Amino acid sequence: GDSVDTDLARTWVQAIAAAVDKHKDHLTQLDSAIGDADHGTNMHRGFSAAVTALADYEPDTVGAVLVKTGTTLISTVGGASGPLYGGAFRAIGKALDTPTADTQQVAAALAAGLASIQKLGAAAPGDKTMIDAFAPALAAFQQQADAGADLAAAAVAAADAAEEGMRATTPLQARKGRASYLGARSIGHQDPGATSTALAFRALAETVGD
Ligand code: ADP
Ligand code: MG
Ligand code: MG
Repeated sequence: GDSVDTDLARTWVQAIAAAVDKHKDHLTQLDSAIGDADHGTNMHRGFSAAVTALADYEPDTVGAVLVKTGTTLISTVGGASGPLYGGAFRAIGKALDTPTADTQQVAAALAAGLASIQKLGAAAPGDKTMIDAFAPALAAFQQQADAGADLAAAAVAAADAAEEGMRATTPLQARKGRASYLGARSIGHQDPGATSTALAFRALAETVGD
Protein backbone atom coordinates (compact mmCIF):
# COMPACT_ATOMS: atom_id res chain seq x y z
CA GLY A 1 0.00 0.00 0.00
CA ASP A 2 0.96 3.63 -0.46
CA SER A 3 -0.82 5.42 2.36
CA VAL A 4 -2.31 5.03 5.82
CA ASP A 5 -5.94 5.90 6.57
CA THR A 6 -7.88 5.73 9.83
CA ASP A 7 -8.94 2.11 9.28
CA LEU A 8 -5.35 1.05 8.65
CA ALA A 9 -4.18 2.90 11.78
CA ARG A 10 -6.77 1.02 13.82
CA THR A 11 -5.75 -2.28 12.19
CA TRP A 12 -2.13 -1.56 13.14
CA VAL A 13 -3.07 -1.11 16.80
CA GLN A 14 -5.14 -4.33 16.65
CA ALA A 15 -2.17 -6.15 15.11
CA ILE A 16 0.14 -4.93 17.90
CA ALA A 17 -2.43 -6.13 20.45
CA ALA A 18 -2.56 -9.56 18.77
CA ALA A 19 1.25 -9.81 18.72
CA VAL A 20 1.50 -8.76 22.37
CA ASP A 21 -1.15 -11.33 23.27
CA LYS A 22 0.81 -14.04 21.45
CA HIS A 23 4.17 -13.02 22.95
CA LYS A 24 2.98 -11.92 26.41
CA ASP A 25 4.73 -14.74 28.29
CA HIS A 26 7.97 -14.19 26.36
CA LEU A 27 7.97 -10.45 27.15
CA THR A 28 7.37 -11.19 30.84
CA GLN A 29 10.08 -13.87 30.82
CA LEU A 30 12.59 -11.36 29.38
CA ASP A 31 11.55 -8.84 32.03
CA SER A 32 11.91 -11.44 34.80
CA ALA A 33 15.60 -11.80 33.91
CA ILE A 34 16.49 -8.08 34.12
CA GLY A 35 13.39 -6.36 35.56
CA ASP A 36 10.27 -7.07 37.57
CA ALA A 37 8.50 -9.61 35.34
CA ASP A 38 5.59 -7.40 34.27
CA HIS A 39 6.34 -6.20 30.73
CA GLY A 40 4.09 -8.76 29.04
CA THR A 41 1.15 -8.10 31.34
CA ASN A 42 1.71 -4.32 31.17
CA MET A 43 1.67 -4.32 27.38
CA HIS A 44 -1.23 -6.74 27.18
CA ARG A 45 -3.37 -4.63 29.52
CA GLY A 46 -2.57 -1.47 27.56
CA PHE A 47 -3.11 -2.71 24.02
CA SER A 48 -6.27 -4.62 24.96
CA ALA A 49 -7.64 -1.37 26.39
CA ALA A 50 -6.58 0.49 23.24
CA VAL A 51 -8.43 -1.99 20.99
CA THR A 52 -11.55 -1.54 23.11
CA ALA A 53 -11.21 2.27 23.06
CA LEU A 54 -10.91 2.26 19.25
CA ALA A 55 -13.77 -0.19 18.61
CA ASP A 56 -16.49 2.41 18.06
CA TYR A 57 -14.27 5.43 17.45
CA GLU A 58 -14.62 6.91 13.95
CA PRO A 59 -12.37 9.98 13.80
CA ASP A 60 -11.55 12.02 10.68
CA THR A 61 -7.79 11.75 10.98
CA VAL A 62 -5.17 9.02 11.22
CA GLY A 63 -3.63 10.95 14.07
CA ALA A 64 -6.74 10.87 16.24
CA VAL A 65 -6.65 7.06 16.26
CA LEU A 66 -3.04 7.10 17.45
CA VAL A 67 -3.52 9.91 19.98
CA LYS A 68 -6.38 7.93 21.54
CA THR A 69 -4.17 4.85 21.58
CA GLY A 70 -1.43 6.80 23.36
CA THR A 71 -3.78 8.30 25.91
CA THR A 72 -5.16 4.84 26.65
CA LEU A 73 -1.65 3.39 27.06
CA ILE A 74 -0.68 6.17 29.48
CA SER A 75 -3.71 5.46 31.66
CA THR A 76 -3.46 1.65 31.62
CA VAL A 77 0.09 0.32 31.09
CA GLY A 78 1.94 1.77 34.07
CA GLY A 79 5.65 1.25 34.75
CA ALA A 80 8.31 2.90 32.66
CA SER A 81 6.93 1.65 29.37
CA GLY A 82 3.41 3.13 29.79
CA PRO A 83 4.36 6.82 29.63
CA LEU A 84 7.09 6.09 27.06
CA TYR A 85 4.85 4.19 24.63
CA GLY A 86 1.85 6.36 25.44
CA GLY A 87 3.77 9.55 24.80
CA ALA A 88 5.23 8.09 21.60
CA PHE A 89 1.81 7.17 20.17
CA ARG A 90 0.48 10.60 21.11
CA ALA A 91 3.42 12.27 19.35
CA ILE A 92 3.02 10.06 16.27
CA GLY A 93 -0.69 10.91 16.21
CA LYS A 94 -0.17 14.64 16.61
CA ALA A 95 2.10 14.55 13.56
CA LEU A 96 -0.61 12.88 11.43
CA ASP A 97 -3.46 15.38 11.58
CA THR A 98 -4.73 14.26 8.15
CA PRO A 99 -7.26 11.72 6.74
CA THR A 100 -4.43 9.83 5.00
CA ALA A 101 -0.66 9.82 5.34
CA ASP A 102 2.03 8.87 2.83
CA THR A 103 5.42 7.27 3.48
CA GLN A 104 7.25 10.55 4.16
CA GLN A 105 4.51 11.72 6.54
CA VAL A 106 4.70 8.43 8.42
CA ALA A 107 8.50 8.75 8.61
CA ALA A 108 8.18 12.23 10.11
CA ALA A 109 5.59 10.98 12.59
CA LEU A 110 7.77 8.06 13.67
CA ALA A 111 10.62 10.54 14.18
CA ALA A 112 8.34 12.54 16.48
CA GLY A 113 7.56 9.32 18.36
CA LEU A 114 11.23 8.53 18.91
CA ALA A 115 11.92 12.11 19.98
CA SER A 116 9.15 11.82 22.57
CA ILE A 117 10.68 8.63 24.04
CA GLN A 118 14.12 10.25 24.18
CA LYS A 119 12.80 13.46 25.74
CA LEU A 120 10.92 11.62 28.47
CA GLY A 121 13.33 8.76 29.17
CA ALA A 122 16.66 10.42 28.39
CA ALA A 123 18.07 7.16 27.01
CA ALA A 124 20.66 7.13 24.24
CA PRO A 125 21.27 4.40 21.67
CA GLY A 126 23.24 1.60 23.33
CA ASP A 127 21.62 2.04 26.76
CA LYS A 128 19.72 -1.25 26.25
CA THR A 129 16.18 0.12 25.93
CA MET A 130 13.35 0.27 23.39
CA ILE A 131 15.40 3.04 21.70
CA ASP A 132 17.79 0.35 20.44
CA ALA A 133 15.00 -1.12 18.31
CA PHE A 134 13.18 2.14 17.51
CA ALA A 135 16.16 4.21 16.32
CA PRO A 136 17.41 1.72 13.70
CA ALA A 137 13.82 1.05 12.59
CA LEU A 138 13.24 4.75 12.01
CA ALA A 139 16.57 5.12 10.17
CA ALA A 140 15.70 2.22 7.86
CA PHE A 141 12.17 3.55 7.27
CA GLN A 142 13.47 7.05 6.47
CA GLN A 143 16.15 5.68 4.13
CA GLN A 144 13.50 3.72 2.20
CA ALA A 145 11.16 6.72 2.11
CA ASP A 146 13.95 8.94 0.76
CA ALA A 147 14.70 6.33 -1.91
CA GLY A 148 11.08 6.52 -3.07
CA ALA A 149 10.01 3.15 -1.65
CA ASP A 150 6.34 2.59 -0.92
CA LEU A 151 4.98 2.34 2.60
CA ALA A 152 4.99 -1.47 2.65
CA ALA A 153 8.66 -1.72 1.65
CA ALA A 154 9.66 0.97 4.15
CA ALA A 155 7.77 -0.81 6.93
CA VAL A 156 9.41 -4.17 6.16
CA ALA A 157 12.87 -2.56 6.24
CA ALA A 158 11.97 -0.91 9.56
CA ALA A 159 10.74 -4.20 11.07
CA ASP A 160 13.91 -6.02 9.97
CA ALA A 161 16.07 -3.26 11.49
CA ALA A 162 14.04 -3.25 14.71
CA GLU A 163 14.55 -7.00 15.12
CA GLU A 164 18.27 -6.65 14.47
CA GLY A 165 18.45 -3.84 17.04
CA MET A 166 16.44 -5.95 19.49
CA ARG A 167 18.90 -8.86 19.18
CA ALA A 168 21.84 -6.46 19.53
CA THR A 169 20.63 -5.43 23.02
CA THR A 170 21.67 -8.83 24.44
CA PRO A 171 25.40 -8.09 24.96
CA LEU A 172 24.74 -4.54 26.20
CA GLN A 173 24.81 -3.38 29.81
CA ALA A 174 21.64 -1.49 30.76
CA ARG A 175 22.07 2.18 31.63
CA LYS A 176 18.39 3.17 32.00
CA GLY A 177 15.34 1.73 33.74
CA ARG A 178 15.13 -1.12 36.23
CA ALA A 179 17.62 -3.28 34.33
CA SER A 180 20.34 -0.68 35.05
CA TYR A 181 20.12 -1.58 38.77
CA LEU A 182 21.71 -4.94 37.84
CA GLY A 183 24.82 -3.32 36.40
CA ALA A 184 26.98 -5.89 34.58
CA ARG A 185 24.47 -8.63 35.44
CA SER A 186 22.12 -7.13 32.81
CA ILE A 187 24.57 -8.31 30.13
CA GLY A 188 23.50 -11.43 28.23
CA HIS A 189 19.74 -10.77 28.26
CA GLN A 190 17.59 -9.28 25.48
CA ASP A 191 15.79 -6.09 26.49
CA PRO A 192 12.00 -6.53 26.93
CA GLY A 193 11.09 -3.05 25.65
CA ALA A 194 13.25 -3.42 22.54
CA THR A 195 11.42 -6.70 21.97
CA SER A 196 7.94 -5.14 22.20
CA THR A 197 9.07 -2.31 19.92
CA ALA A 198 10.18 -4.89 17.33
CA LEU A 199 6.73 -6.50 17.61
CA ALA A 200 5.10 -3.11 16.92
CA PHE A 201 7.19 -2.51 13.79
CA ARG A 202 6.58 -6.08 12.51
CA ALA A 203 2.85 -5.48 13.09
CA LEU A 204 3.07 -2.28 11.02
CA ALA A 205 4.80 -4.15 8.18
CA GLU A 206 2.15 -6.87 8.21
CA THR A 207 -0.68 -4.33 8.36
CA VAL A 208 0.46 -2.15 5.46
CA GLY A 209 1.58 -5.20 3.45
CA ASP A 210 -1.90 -6.73 3.39
P1 ADP B 1 8.99 -1.27 34.38
O1 ADP B 1 10.48 -1.37 34.13
O2 ADP B 1 8.61 -0.01 35.05
O3 ADP B 1 8.46 -2.52 35.06
P2 ADP B 1 8.18 -2.33 31.84
O4 ADP B 1 8.66 -3.63 32.35
O5 ADP B 1 6.80 -2.33 31.27
O6 ADP B 1 8.30 -1.20 32.92
O7 ADP B 1 9.14 -1.83 30.66
C1 ADP B 1 10.53 -2.02 30.73
C2 ADP B 1 11.17 -1.51 29.45
O8 ADP B 1 11.06 -0.10 29.38
C3 ADP B 1 12.65 -1.79 29.36
O9 ADP B 1 12.91 -3.08 28.83
C4 ADP B 1 13.16 -0.68 28.43
O10 ADP B 1 13.13 -1.07 27.07
C5 ADP B 1 12.15 0.41 28.63
N1 ADP B 1 12.71 1.54 29.34
C6 ADP B 1 12.92 1.65 30.68
N2 ADP B 1 13.44 2.86 30.98
C7 ADP B 1 13.59 3.51 29.79
C8 ADP B 1 14.07 4.81 29.40
N3 ADP B 1 14.51 5.69 30.31
N4 ADP B 1 14.06 5.14 28.10
C9 ADP B 1 13.60 4.27 27.17
N5 ADP B 1 13.13 3.04 27.47
C10 ADP B 1 13.12 2.67 28.76
MG1 MG C 1 8.91 -4.40 34.23
MG1 MG D 1 7.04 -2.69 36.64
